[in-house]
Amino acid sequence: MDNLLNDLNVSRKCFELLDGLVNEEKNSGLLMEFESAILFLATVDKVLVIKEVGLTQSSVTEAMEYLQRQVTIDATPFCFQDCLVITIPFTKGQGKGLCYLGVVVQSDMSNIELYRSLLVELCEKLIKEAEFMSFESQDVLEVSVGDILKNASYEIEFRKLSHSFVRTLSGIIKNRSGIVICERIDSDFIVISSSEGFERKQSSSVAPEHFSNDVLSERSDRDRFLYEGALFFKELKWNVITIFENPSEVFGCIIFSFATKNEATSFLKQTGRWVKDFLPLFSKGYHQEKVRNEGRRRDLLLQVTKKFHSTMNIGEVLGEIIYALEQVYPSFQVNLLLSHEWEVKEGVPIKQLMYGSDSGNRTAEHAYLTGLIQIERIESKDKVTLYAPLRGKQGVYGVMEIQASADVRLPKHEIDFIEMLADTGGNALENAELYQQSRKLIHDLQLINQTSHQLNLNLRLADTINFMTEQIINSFEAEQVGFILFQSNGEFVLLEGSTSFFTKESLEDLEPFIRKVKREKDPIYIGDAQLHDEIKINNYHSVLAVPMIQSTELKGLVIAAHSEPYHFTFDSFKLLQSLIHHSTLAFTNSMLHEELEKLVITDHLTRLYSRNHLDEKIQESMMRDVEGTFLLLDIDNFKQINDTFGHQVGDDIIIQVANIMKKNIREEDIAARWGGEELAIYLPKVDVYTGFSIAERVVKAVAIETSPRVTVSCGVSHWQSHDLDSLSSKTLFNLADQGLYVAKETGKNKAVLQLR
Ligand code: GH3
Ligand code: MG
Ligand code: MG
Repeated sequence: MDNLLNDLNVSRKCFELLDGLVNEEKNSGLLMEFESAILFLATVDKVLVIKEVGLTQSSVTEAMEYLQRQVTIDATPFCFQDCLVITIPFTKGQGKGLCYLGVVVQSDMSNIELYRSLLVELCEKLIKEAEFMSFESQDVLEVSVGDILKNASYEIEFRKLSHSFVRTLSGIIKNRSGIVICERIDSDFIVISSSEGFERKQSSSVAPEHFSNDVLSERSDRDRFLYEGALFFKELKWNVITIFENPSEVFGCIIFSFATKNEATSFLKQTGRWVKDFLPLFSKGYHQEKVRNEGRRRDLLLQVTKKFHSTMNIGEVLGEIIYALEQVYPSFQVNLLLSHEWEVKEGVPIKQLMYGSDSGNRTAEHAYLTGLIQIERIESKDKVTLYAPLRGKQGVYGVMEIQASADVRLPKHEIDFIEMLADTGGNALENAELYQQSRKLIHDLQLINQTSHQLNLNLRLADTINFMTEQIINSFEAEQVGFILFQSNGEFVLLEGSTSFFTKESLEDLEPFIRKVKREKDPIYIGDAQLHDEIKINNYHSVLAVPMIQSTELKGLVIAAHSEPYHFTFDSFKLLQSLIHHSTLAFTNSMLHEELEKLVITDHLTRLYSRNHLDEKIQESMMRDVEGTFLLLDIDNFKQINDTFGHQVGDDIIIQVANIMKKNIREEDIAARWGGEELAIYLPKVDVYTGFSIAERVVKAVAIETSPRVTVSCGVSHWQSHDLDSLSSKTLFNLADQGLYVAKETGKNKAVLQLR
């Protein structure tokens, strides 16, 4: 024990010496030159004590370490990185007894003289102070502040100093005492370093009933306690407690434990002051660590926030948050439990947040629902899990799950930090969601807009259906699209332009389903049609059915299908409804338009095609076919019929003749009203002989079947592709007209072929 006290004394004195010097000279200006420096006392191969001057830069600390590890005082002066290391002998003596005053300073060789003279000046002051000291014996310097600092790699950090302090001192006092250093976290004292023999409690916190705020507040001497508590070390019963105190707060304590009260008291008496003197170093370390940690957290938070503001990429923001947490808490396991599926870059640990299900995590769920941080300790698993909700302004988007081992304590400010990160994540998720929603809305609107626009351009129903089918296939990845039209007679028909699956046969299978839609007039979403009895749709699983309703009238039905179950999202179901809703008017228009066109191309009285239409069809045939025959008919003595029976009967006769004509020709032939009581037939691809015999057949049929009985005369003409002169509808008409004239002139009720 004596040795120990001696060691501590020498180191303390050295430290005090330097400390005093620096504090004094800082004011007097001698040390104004130093922006960042370390003054030290050393023997030839060992640094005894150091004292920082100004703000310590890492390069200065590194140079100090380098001197410590790699070189001896003999090597000085030298430069290391951007630092200059110089020493001057400080005491008179020989070999190992010689002592040096040195400085590590950010400078190059050019300032060497300046610093040397400074050291000399300092040295003179020091010698005056240190006259009483002896550095003759190397042995007495074995344990010193320098050793503790060295063991802490000259880093004035609370934890490093604590470990070094415990390690260095327990090496000396061996089994005679135990040492524990605690950090105060909120209202608990948590062991951060201890000598061997200390019994770790489950949570590593010193039980509050033995050492707590009560003890702290009742203390008479703020620096030490003699306290009986056999809590910490077997057989060591008496504790000396020394409190670390920042000006504003107690941040921890050192506990020395001894076997007897006497030993404890004597330790207090002899060492108390030394320990007390060492405390400012802890304080400084604690403060620096706190500042550094806070700075680091601030930097990380800034980085996350920057990312948050610079990108809409949610994956990057979440990745940055996870990175920040890993930096601050390397031992923690972090998962993100998200309520939606987000595309996130690889390596970001994302899980789907399950809620409302049995497999869900109740605590996570609770954090999600309440928006409050939850902490869960599972003693059996020796784990503590923290659930921080990812909050946005409008809701909670998931939960950040942080797992740590049970002995980790999270003080309030740490939880605040985690909460802040989680909120940034929540806001980022919210932004991304709103952004994606608005993008989707814009996209949907564009689709509807573009479709309506296109539909208004394409007035043909077949074109309309084709276009819509294509849009639905592209936008919803549908495999089959069917358009079904409800007719006024209660039947329904398949519209041209539907995809291949939709046929007469498949429509029969679908009939009950179609009738149901017709009855209920509601859109239907089917996730898996194979599980439903109400719809028979081959191998297709996903089905959307949307009725087409125009001013409350059900016009028809659109069906989209896909072979995968649940292929269509609910959003696409909604969008399809919108799309159909906005295009039904265009459908109706197309249908009306086509009906109107049909009216124009047919003659009202006879329901035969109009002359215009006939003309068009002949032109088309002339482009496409190799020949064709044209018949021009005129009712004989019609004026007389009118005069005898009246116009009404006259009209009826025209209808009778028209029907006889239709009956005597094929589907692809065209019967038209040429004008008045003149009628015409065009027979595409029909040769002249066949055409003439058809003409004769019609003439004969009219003479037999009409009542009152009439006859017709007919002129017949013909064209073929190699006969270029006949290749004009006008020529064809003229020839037939000539034939008709001849027929009239030669007795009527006959057909006359007119060739060129
Ligand atoms: P022809 O044998 O020489 O053809 O003698 P026609 O009496 O038929 O003479 P023409 O062809 O010159 O007369 C056509 C008459 O048919 C004139 C007109 O009153 C009558 N007519 C034309 N269109 C209609 C119609 O739509 N309905 C009725 N009832 N009569 C019509
Ligand atoms: Mg006539
Ligand atoms: Mg006539």
